[in-house]
Amino acid sequence: MSKVVVLGAGVSGLTSALCLLENFGDRIANLSILSSEWPGDYHAHDFTSPWAGANWASFAKKHEVDQIRRDKISYLKFEQLAASEPESGVKPYKLKSCFLKKEGLPWYIEQKFVREIKMITEEELNYRNLDPNLYHGVEFLSFTVTPNVYNNYLLAKIRKLGGEVRRVPRLDVITDVVSVVGLVPDLVVNATGVNAGKLLREEEPKELQNVVPIKGQILQIFEDLPYQVMVETLPKELKGRPNQFLNIFPRAEGGCIVGGIFAKGDWSNTVDEDLSKSILKVCRNHVPELRSVTTYNSYVALRPGREGGVRIALSKYRLKNFPETLNVVHNYGIGGAGYQSSYGSAMELCGIVSEVFTNRNKPKCSKL
Ligand SMILES: Cc1cc2nc3c(=O)[nH]c(=O)nc-3n(C[C@H](O)[C@H](O)[C@H](O)COP(=O)(O)OP(=O)(O)OC[C@H]3O[C@@H](n4cnc5c(N)ncnc54)[C@H](O)[C@@H]3O)c2cc1C
Repeated sequence: MSKVVVLGAGVSGLTSALCLLENFGDRIANLSILSSEWPGDYHAHDFTSPWAGANWASFAKKHEVDQIRRDKISYLKFEQLAASEPESGVKPYKLKSCFLKKEGLPWYIEQKFVREIKMITEEELNYRNLDPNLYHGVEFLSFTVTPNVYNNYLLAKIRKLGGEVRRVPRLDVITDVVSVVGLVPDLVVNATGVNAGKLLREEEPKELQNVVPIKGQILQIFEDLPYQVMVETLPKELKGRPNQFLNIFPRAEGGCIVGGIFAKGDWSNTVDEDLSKSILKVCRNHVPELRSVTTYNSYVALRPGREGGVRIALSKYRLKNFPETLNVVHNYGIGGAGYQSSYGSAMELCGIVSEVFTNRNKPKCSKL
């Protein structure tokens, strides 16, 4: 029986913990989640999970088969949760998504993977001030997740399955986990988001460069919209910032969030008022339904980006004062896709953990 520590209580850590308990309940003696921030905390813009949109609209390119697999698994899970456990905070919504024609259509439309696909008519593109010669659009069944509801739902399930939780100050380096728990765990899951690079700086200095924040900025409005809207590349005449786009996701409890931007490498936590004005201008332009809105909050948060994409892999680190090595399975660096690929990533992590458990239980070679 194994002692498992999950480091991080964002959507990656919580989903990993839940999938581990669901799949390896008979092999885990104790699973504890250690984390400096928890669902319900809103003080840290580098604790990303509370601030997400969060919808399902895969960013995977057609050749990124691993990411496509993760996103597919999660879409199917969200579909199941929305139908059978609405208290999870996962709600089905149609998504109207518009792209430049020259960029083609996303894999999930080409593969007809998502439900209820319809092309957006020229008439609607004109209504949304998008030139039908340049843009095309699709409508399909997507999901919106209310982050705090969903993460608390995951946490409740974890505790029901015997998972323990503990708030700790931020660990300085990954091997500090041993002194914090007072033993060498059989397995550590590293789900520390945008802080993973700093945590690994001694063991794997290159990760300090690889993990990068991708700052986002969101406005929260009182007005409702019965569907989600995304415009990936904004028309030039709107004079948006580099990597600015339009995302409008309704919230299950009413109102919408409006974004946004991908500002890579920016660690700051300040709201840019000019950008807020631009986000509202873009919203008015493409969604005349929301021509007049009332903003009640605006905020920024950091997506946990990583060069090369999410890292789901096993590392073995030497420990100074112990003969054992520290087995760490990583699940960090998912950028702007942490919810929409959460189940797929966690199931992939379970595949690696299964091998770790199997190898651990293999009898050691003995001399005859
Ligand atoms: C504006 C915005 C919009 C987004 N929209 C979407 C969307 O529509 N769909 C989607 O799928 N995703 C979206 N995302 C991305 C999504 O929010 C992230 O991918 C996801 O939240 C990352 O979760 P995580 O668990 O990996 O990291 P985090 O949520 O940051 O969790 C990291 C955890 O590790 C803990 N931790 C970190 N360092 C330490 C340490 N040294 N010691 C102890 N504990 C530590 C933290 O306290 C925290 O609990 C959006 C993000 C933003 C900012």
